[in-house]
Amino acid sequence: MYHYVRDLKNSRFPEIKGCDVRLFKEQIQYIKRHYIPVTVEQVLDSYAKGGECLPDKAILLTFDDAYADHFTYAFPILEHEHIQGAFFPPVKAVTEHTVLDVNKIHFILASTPIEMMPRLLSELRSLLEMNREKYGLESFDSYFERLAVANRFDSKEVVFIKRLLQVALPEQLRRDLSTKLFERSVGMDESVFSRELYMSIDQIRCMVDCGMHIGSHGYDHYWLSSLPKDKQEFEIAKSLEFLDMVGADTKKWTICYPYGDYNDDTISLLKQHGCQMGFTTKVAVADLKADGSDALYKLPRLDVNDLPKNSNATTNEWYQIG
Ligand SMILES: [Zn+2]
Repeated sequence: MYHYVRDLKNSRFPEIKGCDVRLFKEQIQYIKRHYIPVTVEQVLDSYAKGGECLPDKAILLTFDDAYADHFTYAFPILEHEHIQGAFFPPVKAVTEHTVLDVNKIHFILASTPIEMMPRLLSELRSLLEMNREKYGLESFDSYFERLAVANRFDSKEVVFIKRLLQVALPEQLRRDLSTKLFERSVGMDESVFSRELYMSIDQIRCMVDCGMHIGSHGYDHYWLSSLPKDKQEFEIAKSLEFLDMVGADTKKWTICYPYGDYNDDTISLLKQHGCQMGFTTKVAVADLKADGSDALYKLPRLDVNDLPKNSNATTNEWYQIG
């Protein structure tokens, strides 16, 4: 599972948490040495035959959110190496030139040097205070106590800001605050920023023509399980329209759940609409022969950081598991 793959040092936001293109190249060489890249079509075909016909160390590369960087940096390398990537564009961001809240948060953080973090937190404290009554919010301190827990990638302050603005606050307020802080920290017009950040429709079409896989990532990048069934269906229908427009396969299509989030309604709708496979953000090696229903709609993925980014690295623990 890849997100940002970019020339970090020479980019406008060198602090963004992403995979530098040089390390991406190294990782692709590592992957070629230890795994066998397969296509979405091969995975589906194998599943139909009971998971028997994929090579032992099969690997499928997925890229979330259709960043322009994927077109600029990842796609030529994949094309050169004859590897298929699976790309998942958030439709509204690409077609209406908006910026996903989750990206706003990343760029707010990338524009905030560590010494400015206390200022960002105090800004958030006063914004929460101002909206406390209107939305019936908890106090800043109580959110902080609950949400500020460091994880394997981020400090507790960063985790707090991400969780607060991605999920803990009411949806409208999350959107308002992300937009406000984005304007202040990044200081760029949203539609200009969007055009720099995401692929264009023509770039996506070009990738389809070159054999890359393009799947659904919803329309408005919602936590799908938070939506009633009819709204989930809207998300799915709009993303299918988009797949059709860019010439992607709408008979045997796939979805990558925004935030890895789905529920039983999602899976029943996907089956109804002919979706073949769903990618989550659960960290594990996928087992196509796993017992239980719907394994193909709950596929776990490894993160870019779970595999070495050095072409000469020795085999890793996932290799042993996989
Ligand atoms: Zn996404």
